[in-house]
Amino acid sequence: MKVFIVYAHPESLSLNGALKDVAVSHLTALGHAVQVSDLYAMQWKASADAADFITRRDPQRLNYPSESKSAYKGDTQTENIKREQEKLLWADAVIFQFPMWWFSMPAILKGWIDRVYACGFAYGVGRHEGEHWGRRYGEGTLEGRRAMLSITIGGRAPQYSERGVNGELHDLLFPIHHGILFYPGMRVLSPHIIYEAGRMPLAEFDRVATGYKSRLDQLFTDDPIPYRMQNHGHYDSQQVLKPGLGHGQHGTRIHLLQPGDPPQAA
Ligand SMILES: Cc1cc2nc3c(=O)[nH]c(=O)nc-3n(C[C@H](O)[C@H](O)[C@H](O)COP(=O)(O)OP(=O)(O)OC[C@H]3O[C@@H](n4cnc5c(N)ncnc54)[C@H](O)[C@@H]3O)c2cc1C
Repeated sequence: MKVFIVYAHPESLSLNGALKDVAVSHLTALGHAVQVSDLYAMQWKASADAADFITRRDPQRLNYPSESKSAYKGDTQTENIKREQEKLLWADAVIFQFPMWWFSMPAILKGWIDRVYACGFAYGVGRHEGEHWGRRYGEGTLEGRRAMLSITIGGRAPQYSERGVNGELHDLLFPIHHGILFYPGMRVLSPHIIYEAGRMPLAEFDRVATGYKSRLDQLFTDDPIPYRMQNHGHYDSQQVLKPGLGHGQHGTRIHLLQPGDPPQAA
């Protein structure tokens, strides 16, 4: 199988760098083909701006989604954006390796998403009408691929538990899991997390690497997070969850399929 690793850490000798190296060597040893985008080494431009467009529909006023759509459709995107899209299309699974920075991803990775996820590629895909509001949330260009976050976190696990002061981890990751990975169609695996990463002694690394390797062994067999598909009967024409679904759940959790839910329409 083909695995694409998007790696965002400024220091190659970091813990994140070491975890990326473990993934490359282990996945290769398992017989998978691996490509890596090392965003800092590539000096990836994080800001989405006018320089992303070789030709402009409207040279007076920048409307990013509209220029993005026209560049994607007209095959006039910049080479670096195109190359990253090709890697996503090549992959059967995509791993994002990064440290948690301010409860999210480093800005360089967010900028990779902003620019690579072009209009017509990752959003603005398909018919928008009634209960079918674009090919998104389970459908779309990246359908058929798996995605997994591999994150190092400075804080302790209890701080990210249900009643932990930092907020529950899956709630914090919902915008990435659901809004960035599931949105263009990928199936999202539970994240691989290393807590208290900043203080991890070097002597711990073998244990951590072994744990990560066994997780990677399951990359193509683990069940994904059971998010509801948008266009398969559970949401109404305003894309609101229909009455009777999501019972006993609250917040972002209503978007997870529950035992006893009616089957999603074909
Ligand atoms: C801007 C910023 C924002 C942050 N926001 C948050 C936040 O919102 N929430 C939160 O919980 N934390 C936060 N942190 C902490 C951050 O998540 C951790 O610093 C980070 O996850 C540690 O990963 P690293 O790769 O940078 O570790 P490094 O600093 O590279 O290493 C961490 C430890 O791992 C050890 N180590 C063991 N084996 C190896 C090996 N093989 N190679 C390299 N090192 C090894 C090192 O010796 C070191 O002690 C933030 C940090 C920054 C800088």
